[in-house]
Amino acid sequence: PVILAIESSCDDTSAAVMAGGEILANVVATQQVHEQYGGVVPELASRAHQQHLIPVVQEALRRAKVDKSALDAVAFTQGPGLLGSLLVGSMFAKTFAQALDKPLIAVNHMRAHILAHFIRAPRPAFPFLCLTVSGGHTQLVVVRSPMDMQVIGQTIDDAAGEAFDKTAKLLGLPYPGGPHLDKQAKLGNPTRFPFPVGAMPGYDFSFSGLKTSVLYFLRQQTAQNPDFVAENLPDLCASIQHTIIQTLLRQLVRAAQDNNLTQIALAGGVAANSGLRAALTELTAEKGWEVFIPDFEFCTDNAGMVAMTAHFQYQAGDFAEPLVSPDPRLKLT
Ligand code: ATP
Ligand code: FE
Repeated sequence: PVILAIESSCDDTSAAVMAGGEILANVVATQQVHEQYGGVVPELASRAHQQHLIPVVQEALRRAKVDKSALDAVAFTQGPGLLGSLLVGSMFAKTFAQALDKPLIAVNHMRAHILAHFIRAPRPAFPFLCLTVSGGHTQLVVVRSPMDMQVIGQTIDDAAGEAFDKTAKLLGLPYPGGPHLDKQAKLGNPTRFPFPVGAMPGYDFSFSGLKTSVLYFLRQQTAQNPDFVAENLPDLCASIQHTIIQTLLRQLVRAAQDNNLTQIALAGGVAANSGLRAALTELTAEKGWEVFIPDFEFCTDNAGMVAMTAHFQYQAGDFAEPLVSPDPRLKLT
């Protein structure tokens, strides 16, 4: 099938065209307006989606060299995400599908982050364990098939991306802080400042303790030396990043061993973190497991992953009603 997919769950407006499982175009417009506020402002996000969506769809169709009459289905992100943002994408997709008299496919954003692995080779084999680490989620998911997924662990407070962004903010780094912290961490000593690894039963995660301990540590140090952060930035970044990675990998190893899973996948925007990629690659090599990390383009929010998921749903005959609503808290299972 030829599918047009729309992604508008947070602050990226994206459209993709896929034909027979092959990605033909994946256009992303990232919203800059939020930078000055140090976080995503929902009202501004939905207004920017309204401005970007039609040009982004037109550009995706143009790059794919596909006329809208050739489309077999229109897909959109139903949730989870910001309601105002989801509404823009879903209204457009519903209207467009109706005007073209084509079926509509409603996609779960977290499922899409995982199925991004199927856009390009190498593709994991089922069943596999996926660690999804993004701006709003941290989940360990057993993936038995494109449609059969089970969340076995998740964060009870902050997501891994938030842990990066919030601690980066404490260090005075620009928003979103994850990539800046990653860059500084490359120059620092990861064991210089020991921060607590959030210990949770089962396969759950907790990152709020790290944020608090970094806050108190910095307060205490800057009281003695106001230049403490400036003088120790790389070591602080490396130590924080190291702690987040240890927290993630400890649960991942337990989950993989308990469930006899040797195919390990990483998904979501935090998969761009160079320290996490290196640590996971090293760990899986040591254990004799296989690791899969998608291209960066398909790790952060993009409609390509929504198109891939819609492709599987199309084959399964999983279409949406014309009056389907977005769901900001849509669950994966
Ligand atoms: P969700 O999918 O849960 O709704 P999201 O789609 O907004 O959240 P993503 O776009 O997948 O989140 O990821 C964004 C997050 O990834 C941000 O928190 C950002 O700081 C983080 N991030 C991106 N690059 C890096 C990096 N190199 N190191 C650490 N974190 C990073
Ligand atoms: Fe996302």
